[in-house]
Amino acid sequence: MEQEEKGYFEYGFQYWSRNNFIVEDGVIKVNRASKPSLLEIVQKAKEFGIETPILIRFPHLIDRQMNKIYTTFQKAIEKEKYQGRFQAVFPLKVNQYSGFLNEFLRYAPKYGYGLEAGSKAELLLAISMNSHKAPITVNGFKDREMIELGFLATQMGHNVTLIIESLSELKDIITISKRFPKIPNIGIRIRLYSYGSGTWAKSGGIDSKFGLTATEIIQALRLLKQENYITFFKMLHFHIGSQIASIYTVQKALREAGQIYGELKKMGAKYLNKINIGGGLGVDYGQHKSRIDRNYTTEEFASTVVKIIKEVTDEKGIENPSIYAEFGRFVSANHAVLITSVLELYTQDYRENHLFLKERNNPQVIRILKEIYKKVDSQLDEDEILELLHETIQHVDSIETLFRLGYLDLQDRANIEILGQMIIKKILSILDKNELVEHDSLLHKIEERYLINFSIFQSIPDFWGLGQTFPIIPIHHLDKKAVRPASIWDITCDSDGEIEFDEKAPLFLHDIDLTTKPYYIGFFMVGAYQDTLGMRHNLFDRPSEIIVDVDEVGFSIRDSKVSKSLTDILSEIGYSYDEIYNKLREQINNISPLSSQDRDNIFLCIKKYFNMTNYLNRDEVWD
Ligand SMILES: *Cc1c(COP(=O)(O)O)cnc(C)c1O
Repeated sequence: MEQEEKGYFEYGFQYWSRNNFIVEDGVIKVNRASKPSLLEIVQKAKEFGIETPILIRFPHLIDRQMNKIYTTFQKAIEKEKYQGRFQAVFPLKVNQYSGFLNEFLRYAPKYGYGLEAGSKAELLLAISMNSHKAPITVNGFKDREMIELGFLATQMGHNVTLIIESLSELKDIITISKRFPKIPNIGIRIRLYSYGSGTWAKSGGIDSKFGLTATEIIQALRLLKQENYITFFKMLHFHIGSQIASIYTVQKALREAGQIYGELKKMGAKYLNKINIGGGLGVDYGQHKSRIDRNYTTEEFASTVVKIIKEVTDEKGIENPSIYAEFGRFVSANHAVLITSVLELYTQDYRENHLFLKERNNPQVIRILKEIYKKVDSQLDEDEILELLHETIQHVDSIETLFRLGYLDLQDRANIEILGQMIIKKILSILDKNELVEHDSLLHKIEERYLINFSIFQSIPDFWGLGQTFPIIPIHHLDKKAVRPASIWDITCDSDGEIEFDEKAPLFLHDIDLTTKPYYIGFFMVGAYQDTLGMRHNLFDRPSEIIVDVDEVGFSIRDSKVSKSLTDILSEIGYSYDEIYNKLREQINNISPLSSQDRDNIFLCIKKYFNMTNYLNRDEVWD
């Protein structure tokens, strides 16, 4: 109960936060060592001239996830007396940004953690950044150059596995191999009947874009034998989709893959000794019980994998293979938080101080509503309150017609809207959810629109593209209960840039006065895919970002990148600074009459704009 008052339950910390963040003294703190609050971190960043929106990366949370993966699989292996090893590689497509990857790589050697690449650029990155002993797996469609790059990496001493997506890739590998003394490992991606469930179900299944069919697998094996390459065929790979919702799909896929593995061994793939289970280990984004993302824990996932592969291979009397995994979302989602400020509350005008009743001739409805407002009181019993509520709603609903027909003027309309809101809010503060059938629809009626300084398309593109939600929480004021049902508007000129209030998974924010102080909102778990999928709608580029280390003494901002300036943004899409400057100069020169002093002032002013970021600059009001 006490925790509930502190804002814990309202924002579902118990579902998503994994104790990475806690609430103390009304603010969200990083739950590590000196426990700095997110607010302190934002304020410190401001001292360095970095304004919201800010993406904060916490490297320790990357380490925590890697550690979780390794210890959990290690435990499962010991428990099941599994004979093979566990090995993880990070799939670069999930986050290739240096702000993430450099931090990941600081911890990777501790676990022998490798990398997975799915394109030439990613492979180049993997080869240059990976420590030599850790494995590199290569997925995706490959041209000869990409295959050659894999060979070159092998000559340099990297432990590379080229996983083929088609027979022609295998043929290319064989051709190219004639020119190199060392040959990389070869893997085959298989097409399973099984596929994941939920938002990301498409990457698996018999109709999926990826993997070899049964016939192709047999052909590949024949080719490998024929060309004497069977010694290099080491890995069987599948990936049933991201954010796997149900453990049953994992079980099915593993049994199916295990069968194929056993068959291939029987058919002469003597050196095959690794099963690569792909990614898909889910994370918990949900803030509500109704939005639980997965029906398993990480422990159950690991023990399911280990147990089934053991069962299938033991049954067939073959050695337990090494288990490779390519978890991406699980490693990177937690580490990044976007913090930004609310710019405006859009329906705040429905307050008593905006009520301007006329001296006389207020319409009848207004008199009635005023009386209802006075009558609503906690002394009344439930039925009486409900009756007043229904009366109010009926009156408020009638204004549309009355206004259209000219019986009400604009002032009357405003007054009625305000009175209606005041009554509903008062009733909601007295009756609780269980006593009120129309509770949820009333929340919609008093919903507040929070205009927030960020772009959904840039910072949480998966919300736009797939409806994926992320935990959204004010980072302060959590000692007060938030009561406003909130929908969120971003600053793009696109009506999709909105997170609507959802009564099934409601978001409440504070009723806050923004004239004197900022109100900061955090978007959590945005570290997987969002960095790289983010798009520049309305030219809102990547927000500023900082890397924050937390230790016993405090915290430090190790690295920072300010969001791009207007000139940089424009130059990236093909306009040079000079071109824009000269065009503006010409137009300014044509303003007449204008003193040369004024002209210079305009230039100075415009030059200043060139260096600003594209996000709204409201913070100085609060400084
Ligand atoms: C995307 C992808 C992954 C990562 O999936 P997550 O759900 O992020 O763990 C792993 N392997 C392959 C082949 C992929 O395409």
